[in-house]
Amino acid sequence: MRLRNSQERAQASVWSLFPNKRYNQFFDELIRMPELPEVETTLRGLKPNLQDQRIKRIQVHQKKLRWPVPASLSRQLLNQTFRNIKRRGKYLIFSFDNGHMLVHLGMSGSLRLDSAESKIRKHDHLEWWLENGTVLRFHDPRRFGSIHWLQEQPLQHPLLINLGPEPLEQHFDGSYLYRKSTGRKTAVKNFIMDSHIVVGVGNIYASESLFLAGIYPGRAANNISGDRYTLLANAIKTILKQAIKQGGTTLRDFVNEQGSPGYFSQKLSVYGKHGEPCPTCHTTIKKKKIGQRSSYYCSSCQR
Ligand SMILES: [Zn+2]
Repeated sequence: MRLRNSQERAQASVWSLFPNKRYNQFFDELIRMPELPEVETTLRGLKPNLQDQRIKRIQVHQKKLRWPVPASLSRQLLNQTFRNIKRRGKYLIFSFDNGHMLVHLGMSGSLRLDSAESKIRKHDHLEWWLENGTVLRFHDPRRFGSIHWLQEQPLQHPLLINLGPEPLEQHFDGSYLYRKSTGRKTAVKNFIMDSHIVVGVGNIYASESLFLAGIYPGRAANNISGDRYTLLANAIKTILKQAIKQGGTTLRDFVNEQGSPGYFSQKLSVYGKHGEPCPTCHTTIKKKKIGQRSSYYCSSCQR
């Protein structure tokens, strides 16, 4: 808890010191966004604690998120019971008898369950008070997260309807990627980070998966064989599963339910390791911008 607060303080002061875009891009790389594993871990942490809990009070302290919090949210959710929570891409879908609440954590958002006696923290923008004496809090220093209220089927919502397959589902495989890559000259790293192709492969996990598959991140997507796409699809699954198992890379006290001790950083092979030796062949790891994002790779293991 203390670590997180001091990190946040450091970040806040950093932002005010360097308001211009170049520095913002630089610090974007340092401040890790919640990616699929963090969202999945949040889901797994929250689900058993929220299921069948009734909401007895809602407080919206800050409605200006990436999009405004719907004005009807409090009215819709009062006295409603959490029936289910699912994930689609990086969205969490909380289902109630009268509709669905869609939550995206944005760049710096998190959800945590606190005891009713605990104090609200700075940047806790919404609170859902539950009848079992706990309170769910949405925390988001940079306010790029968003909360939506839907009455229609959530998977039909414009934000979700065009998303590509889930990487951990069976039908996401090498032949799917190979098919989709036809005629695509974009760098393979951008290709796998495109949520229309596959959801939830962010910058960290794209770099790590390409390293595991031995593919150079700048290689044109349409210039990779079916066999190598099989390696890549499997690498994406392996890397994401590993991260979920370890509780998500950024997940120090992401979901602080039941006073859990927090999580440790996943061991990364290339991401953020430029200048260090490749864990496989000891060649110095390089860093290069591909599609505006920093990419890390070993020029000898990745072709
Ligand atoms: Zn290497």
